[in-house]
Amino acid sequence: MRTRIHEKFKDLFGEGGVQYASAGRVNLIGEHTDYNGGYVFPGAIDCGIIAEIKVNGTDRVRAFSLDYNEEVTFGLNEEDKPSQAWACYIFGVCRETMKRGGKVAGFDTVFAGDVPLGAGLSSSAALESTFAFAIEDINKNGIDRFELAKIGQMTEHHYCGVNCGIMDQFASCFGKQGSLIRLNCKTMEYKYFPFNPQGYKLVLIDSCVKHELASSAYNKRRQSCENAAAHIRKNHPEIEFLSDCNRLWLDEVRSEIPEEDFLRAEYVIGEVQRVLDVCDALERGDYETVGEMMYQTHFGLSKLYEVSCEELDFLNKLARKMDVTGSRVMGGGFGGCTINLVKDELYQSFIDAAREQFAARFGHDPKIYDVVISDGARRLK
Ligand code: ADP
Ligand code: MG
Repeated sequence: MRTRIHEKFKDLFGEGGVQYASAGRVNLIGEHTDYNGGYVFPGAIDCGIIAEIKVNGTDRVRAFSLDYNEEVTFGLNEEDKPSQAWACYIFGVCRETMKRGGKVAGFDTVFAGDVPLGAGLSSSAALESTFAFAIEDINKNGIDRFELAKIGQMTEHHYCGVNCGIMDQFASCFGKQGSLIRLNCKTMEYKYFPFNPQGYKLVLIDSCVKHELASSAYNKRRQSCENAAAHIRKNHPEIEFLSDCNRLWLDEVRSEIPEEDFLRAEYVIGEVQRVLDVCDALERGDYETVGEMMYQTHFGLSKLYEVSCEELDFLNKLARKMDVTGSRVMGGGFGGCTINLVKDELYQSFIDAAREQFAARFGHDPKIYDVVISDGARRLK
């Protein structure tokens, strides 16, 4: 990919470009915890975006997407927003940098990526982080990594119509090879934990389905969580989010709230604890416990939070049947991928069985992505 990008850059813009990269992400555990002020636990992966960039001495950006085989030129004022969706990510990053008082010298770029689009691996965050990091490195505006992640997030909000949280951009800006990052979504404190599963592979199985109720169901889940927290707060005024509560406090209000809200809250409180348990297990190198927690999360998402679906439960059950170490639905739910921690010796038979049995049951093939926890935003040598 680097060579292809460089060749095209030379053709279009000549020598002297510098290459930057950033990555997609996975979230090992900590699902539906972000808006409850809990932890998420993502890491950058070994697929991402690479961009070659050179300042061009104008106040315009000329960008060539190798994957779409398309060139777009745009200015840097608010009214210059390009019509191509992919170019809006780059434009948005420039604008958000400028809104923070940063300088953005016009530049030429050729870029490409290998994050599957819309599979839940956040190709868009990879794209934003690559450019946010590169623009900072080139213009030296003194914007720190955390603010670079915010630039990516606000690009999605203001220029791409996606009201996302900070996790994806955080992971692609802060990702480190062999480390996952536990982010406290209330305080934004973070900590790295070692993730070097020798003898295991991390593999995603993409169900390639997206069930439609997702956004209304998402809002209902949020309301349930807020309602449970509001009732607990009457007894314990110090709590801000559901993640501040423990199981006993939830039990105190069980008769006051709908059973559905109770189950949602039970899941969230359990999930916050599971992230902590997984972090402890990783410090001991205990990947069997990590895997068991992943199954517990899947159970919670499926039976308590009710955001799984037939396809994902099928893949999870198959993993359990085949003695895969850990497996759970990853992301908001109602479709997308399962993330699986699989012993090397089981890997081939597991993905063969998943392909075959999933296709026989649902009439289409799943997609398989192997991932390795890798570096996030960086300048390439
Ligand atoms: P994801 O879950 O992968 O982030 P999104 O819909 O948020 O899915 O972002 C995908 C969009 O990001 C694409 O439609 C495209 O506009 C942009 N994008 C991602 N990767 C690339 C790439 N390699 N080249 C050009 N644009 C890309
Ligand atoms: Mg995205």
